[in-house]
Amino acid sequence: MGGWCMYDLIIIGGGPAGLSAGLYASRAQLKTLLIEKVMPGGLLGITEEIENYPGFPGGIAGFELGMKFHQQANEFGLQTAFEEVQSLKLEGNIKQVVTNQNRYESKAVIIATGTKYRQLKIQGEQELLGKGVSYCATCDGAFFKDKEVVVIGGGDAAVEEALFLTRFASKVTIVHRRDSLRATMVLQERAKANEKINFLWNSAVERIVGQNQVEGVQINNLASGDSHLFKAQGVFIFIGLDPVVDLFKNQVDLTPEGYILADETTKTSIPGVFAAGDIRKKPLRQVVTAVSDGAVAAVAAEKYLEQFE
Ligand code: NAP
Repeated sequence: MGGWCMYDLIIIGGGPAGLSAGLYASRAQLKTLLIEKVMPGGLLGITEEIENYPGFPGGIAGFELGMKFHQQANEFGLQTAFEEVQSLKLEGNIKQVVTNQNRYESKAVIIATGTKYRQLKIQGEQELLGKGVSYCATCDGAFFKDKEVVVIGGGDAAVEEALFLTRFASKVTIVHRRDSLRATMVLQERAKANEKINFLWNSAVERIVGQNQVEGVQINNLASGDSHLFKAQGVFIFIGLDPVVDLFKNQVDLTPEGYILADETTKTSIPGVFAAGDIRKKPLRQVVTAVSDGAVAAVAAEKYLEQFE
């Protein structure tokens, strides 16, 4: 690992918020580096289709939208490092970010690390991961052609992914802990009208059963208290999101749920540090709100940097 590379602004996370911040910061001619662990797009990259991002009637593949965001920011000179951030120092006028490959310094940082799919933390979940247990219908759905699968959860992700899985699976059963869905009405109606989709209400999955492959789930009916084995070859878990915040935990102020507290201008509790997208405390986590945050954060960073001119 060499010396320190200096930037005006470092953006951590290459999802919609980070890429939008990168676009705005590059257009403002800030020397900007975006650090992304996996690929541009973040959770977009594993979302089959986005149909509520304005400008794309008929929808657009999540992966494609992520790539377009990246391409557009690149056109204005955004630099991207595909590296994993291991530690950082956010206090003071010079921020330091250490990755698995390099050491960087900057005067401002935008945190856009987003969220990751929450785990159920039940027996069989880790043991059978990749052997029938999945958190990504787009990635794994095709392995379940003509098979029966279970989707756990009742939000937008569960219902949208259940609908996607009907392209492959012979039967999709949504297992939800209450007797009504949280998902947006248009998705609920589509799922209820789909002949391949069934519902198990008031039901909690106690464990995932199988030797080397998923064979079923043990379900507890929360209304009656009865427990039974429900046979299925696949289990897709969509029970919400958790903030990716471990690196910042002891540095910026967080909500009790672990989201970064930031005001409308995305300023955090540390001067020169901004939070954009799903990682921030906010009422609506969508691509459209993430890209909005990214733009606001880049402009806020630009204003903050004026003091060093
Ligand atoms: P979510 O809206 O938080 O819903 C999580 C679901 O999982 C809820 O139905 C919840 O049940 C259930 N759940 C939570 N913990 C559970 C547990 N331990 N055991 C069993 N069930 C559990 O999460 P999401 O669906 O992943 O969506 C996250 C965000 O992304 C939301 O803001 C959503 O709108 C957005 N999103 C949007 C779209 C879209 O606009 N097309 C698509 C995907 C995601 P309860 O209902 O009982 O709490």
